[in-house]
Amino acid sequence: MDSSIAENYRRFCERIRHLEKRHGRSEGSVSVLAVSKTHPPDRIEQAWQAGARDFGENYVREAVDKIAELRKTGITWHFIGPVQSNKTREIAEHFQWLQSLDRIRIARRLSEQRPSDAGPLNVCVQVNLSGEASKSGVALEDTAELCRAVHELEHLRLRGLMSIPAPCEDLEQQRETFRPLARLFRELAPEFPDFDTLSMGMSGDHEAAIAEGSTMVRIGTAIFGARDTG
Ligand SMILES: *Cc1c(COP(=O)(O)O)cnc(C)c1O
Repeated sequence: MDSSIAENYRRFCERIRHLEKRHGRSEGSVSVLAVSKTHPPDRIEQAWQAGARDFGENYVREAVDKIAELRKTGITWHFIGPVQSNKTREIAEHFQWLQSLDRIRIARRLSEQRPSDAGPLNVCVQVNLSGEASKSGVALEDTAELCRAVHELEHLRLRGLMSIPAPCEDLEQQRETFRPLARLFRELAPEFPDFDTLSMGMSGDHEAAIAEGSTMVRIGTAIFGARDTG
């Protein structure tokens, strides 16, 4: 059963190449973040052996143990879950990316706590596109201001924007939801030298995200199968 993870990953990458063509995107412009939350190290290693290099985790405690166990692989780890202020030190010490930054206070802590020999922590500002439906993320209209403040911090490198819209089945509606974020991303990019990442799209809405300009889709279920939600 586990051998299917490698196959799922390869198939999904082929699908991404196909969707890039279908939507007029240049080849290789969309990367895949393998979201491995709840999955044990041996399953992560299967995806790694199939070529996955970037992995996303949502829970600090769970992630830190897996990162230690998989140290030899050289995986690039992205934290994509809600950030509690008492967990910033572990994020700053163990991850290369944080995609779910939505408060300047958290950004300052991370910059202070980033070990000096680790290089800057790559960050995406998380934008709330669904209003009331989600409590995480900064409002679209407040995003530019937060980006400018984050850009000032010495040990963070501002890479772009991320969003997790409320689930929705309809492709056109998904595209409409992503569109304002993509527009803001293009508007802000000239201001920040390292702004190259528009992280939008998951297993259920990746085609809409790619059509609207996503550069990174975050994929759990389509690679690892359904998660036990217990
Ligand atoms: C779990 C998760 C994903 C992956 O979701 P799937 O629907 O399983 O692909 C992507 N992004 C974030 C922030 C997540 O928490």
